[in-house]
Amino acid sequence: MALFKIVYWLGIIIELVIRAPYYKNQKAAKTDQRVFLTEQVLLVLLTIGGLVLPLIYSLTRWLDFADYNLPLWVGWLGVALMGCSLFIFARAHADLKSNWSPSLEIYAGHSLIPQGIYGHIRHPMYACQFCFNPFYILRVKAEEKMMLDTFGDPYREYMRKTGRVIPKF
Ligand code: SAH
Repeated sequence: MALFKIVYWLGIIIELVIRAPYYKNQKAAKTDQRVFLTEQVLLVLLTIGGLVLPLIYSLTRWLDFADYNLPLWVGWLGVALMGCSLFIFARAHADLKSNWSPSLEIYAGHSLIPQGIYGHIRHPMYACQFCFNPFYILRVKAEEKMMLDTFGDPYREYMRKTGRVIPKF
């Protein structure tokens, strides 16, 4: 349905608007950077899956051969999930503040954030993109290793108290 295409693009635009102010973090000096080949390949795949293919699908009929039908409620479930994701995405940026980076990096003044939404789960932003599974699985491991190498015991303690994407009670 055309409405769901509009909702998809609206969601992408809102995500970009939420994230835009945080790109200035990148000006800070970095003490660690782990942007290896897997990380670059994952970012390219994420861009193809999340932007390039949806754009081709929305603007041309080239991908219509792959169309399939789902009940309408599945579309509305998607709209509801997108609403929740955008809320979590905005909260996570507000809590991570100047520590957010587009890739795996540690800034000179990097501090460990164990509160706010990060007091419940360690990867709220990735939780919002859960369908990009390879990205999640491969990146989370590398990121947690980097955080352990940087913060050591405080991060180990933080891991004990939080879940990756499902809160610990
Ligand atoms: N994985 C998190 C953060 C994604 S942004 C999420 O899904 O919300 C990626 C950067 O955030 C990493 O390079 C790391 O330096 C930083 N980071 C991740 N968790 C953090 C935390 N609890 N406190 C401070 N920085 C963190």
